[in-house]
Amino acid sequence: MSLENLHTHTWRCGHASGDVEDYCEAALKRGFGVLGFSDHTPLPEGRWPRIRMSLNSYPDYIRRVELAKKNFAPLKVYLGLEGEWDPAFKEFYDNEILKGGHLDYFIGAVHFFPFHGDWLYLEEASSAAHLAAYAAQAAETLASGYFNLLAHPDAFLAGYRRWDDNARSCAKDILDAAKACGTVLEINGNGYRKRRQRGLRSYEIFYPHKAFWEMAVRRGVPVSISSDAHAPEELDDGLEACRRLAADLEAKTVTAADMLK
Ligand SMILES: [Zn+2]
Ligand SMILES: [Zn+2]
Repeated sequence: MSLENLHTHTWRCGHASGDVEDYCEAALKRGFGVLGFSDHTPLPEGRWPRIRMSLNSYPDYIRRVELAKKNFAPLKVYLGLEGEWDPAFKEFYDNEILKGGHLDYFIGAVHFFPFHGDWLYLEEASSAAHLAAYAAQAAETLASGYFNLLAHPDAFLAGYRRWDDNARSCAKDILDAAKACGTVLEINGNGYRKRRQRGLRSYEIFYPHKAFWEMAVRRGVPVSISSDAHAPEELDDGLEACRRLAADLEAKTVTAADMLK
């Protein structure tokens, strides 16, 4: 299996660097066979403007990735996006994002979850009630039918930082929903990067978390591995650790070709 990464961000989201061509060059240099772009999707006016691309940037994003499909052969390039789910986004996704059928895939993610009329950031998940709300949001994201893959489903641990009955119950709810929808779950290399950046010791509770993925494997949920690169030099960052985790657990790893047929 050639090296693959389906989770890649460009400068357009406002917190990443590099453009499509820079990543393609880095991918070829590092021996990748597959590179998927999944920048943070535009969202309706007023929603989280600092973490996603503007709707104005979207046509150029599509154009450049489509050009890269031709210009960087034999690298297999896919056009995707990463987005959150809110039923309020449905029309926007249908009319502004998916119209034209350009996208090869859409990654779902829960960076924010609704809680008592507010949206909390995943690192604010600190109580049992938060985890229940996080799991419910993940389940709705999966059930929406908009997404091919759910990114870092164990990222609630970046806030909660304990592996106890509440964490297990949150994991169970997310995994049962993934199993029911047949959606692939992503083991995300950015968690290893964040561990390093924050000076966490390897055994500290964070994501990717082994016990979460043990539960996933026990349920037969298929997994995909990506680095969640926010700069071209991060393309393979964390991938080796993710691969080792998947191999240790004998996880059912799917390739882009399996998933994006
Ligand atoms: Zn990002
Ligand atoms: Zn991402």
